[in-house]
Amino acid sequence: MSAFPTIRSVESFIISIPREVPYLGPLGPGERINERGYLVRQGNRAIYPSTDMSVLIKVTAEDGTVGWGETYGIIAPDAVTSIIDDVLGPVVTGRDPRDPVVIQEDLYDLMRVRGFFGGFYVDAIAGLDIALWDLFGKLVGQPVVKLLGGQRRERIPCYVSGVPGATMEGRVETARRFAAQGFDAFKFHSAVSFDGIVEEMRALREGLGPQARIAVDLHWKFSAQEAIQLADRLMPFNPWFIEAPCQPEDIEGQAHVGASIRVPLALGEEWRTVYEYRPRMERRSMSIVQPEMGHIGLSQFMQIGRMANAFHMQVIPHASIGLGVFQAASLHAAAALPNCAMHEYQHSIFDRNLKYVKTTMRCEAAHFVLPEGPGLGIEPARDVFQFVRRKVRA
Ligand code: MG
Repeated sequence: MSAFPTIRSVESFIISIPREVPYLGPLGPGERINERGYLVRQGNRAIYPSTDMSVLIKVTAEDGTVGWGETYGIIAPDAVTSIIDDVLGPVVTGRDPRDPVVIQEDLYDLMRVRGFFGGFYVDAIAGLDIALWDLFGKLVGQPVVKLLGGQRRERIPCYVSGVPGATMEGRVETARRFAAQGFDAFKFHSAVSFDGIVEEMRALREGLGPQARIAVDLHWKFSAQEAIQLADRLMPFNPWFIEAPCQPEDIEGQAHVGASIRVPLALGEEWRTVYEYRPRMERRSMSIVQPEMGHIGLSQFMQIGRMANAFHMQVIPHASIGLGVFQAASLHAAAALPNCAMHEYQHSIFDRNLKYVKTTMRCEAAHFVLPEGPGLGIEPARDVFQFVRRKVRA
């Protein structure tokens, strides 16, 4: 028997695709794009890119087969590519691509005792992990979902994330346009609720009718008690869930909100490993978890998803700025889990970036259709490499 191909090389690319309107919608009062192309949203004091930026990872096996991964590179992407090029890539060279979970655990261990439990380090591991799963699938001729324990579905219902518009009327109009296409679930982003959160919920409820599911992302803006008070004020409009009410570190605050409100709480987009999920799960802080594939990778995602299932929590994966590769990985995971009935749909990113990838993945009739083919079923198209940004080198 000939030896199974091992990993020959790992490469990383920073992709930056220009966009006319920034993610989350037009600039608000006091917001501007700085000389590095970033803007600070006044509503949640977080920094965002004005382009669609992410990091692609290419893993090549000895026989020439290529696996693609992607991770967050929305801010300071050179931090992620440095970790991949300098640390992770050389360590995985020569390894067996059929061992993605083992490799993910080994890479996490490299910096664990130095306190690197998240951030750019785990983002870098996530992107490489996704590439290894893609390579594994291609080498054995199977879709990744079949390697994750089995496939439950081919289409995953999705909700409209963000209803951008310069005015309240414009935002309601955006939502109604999606409703006319068959969407019945929506989430608005309070960072850009320039006319007030309760007012936006009221306007959307009136505009979409009693059947629509309407969630709100609170973008970590409130103390626990403020969030509880706000949830009370939203109750007359029958919210679907509320997301991220308190600051990310406030574990007890999250639990207090979860125990006090009468609407499902959704948390988790910024957590990267089971170790961050576990204390929140033990406290029963939330009933919906929102793992972000671009931050955690497939190996961690499946552990988190199955642990959530043990706690009777739903998984509604987060989706954000990316080319579509980590989104495809998220759909494979979603299709394998018993407790994942829905996925976030970032319409302002997903559809516009589809032209830069080769895939059958699409959003159709308010559902994501899982990509076909071995591996993840998605590859960057040649066109995307016109948007490669040069890495910063000393
Ligand atoms: Mg969010």
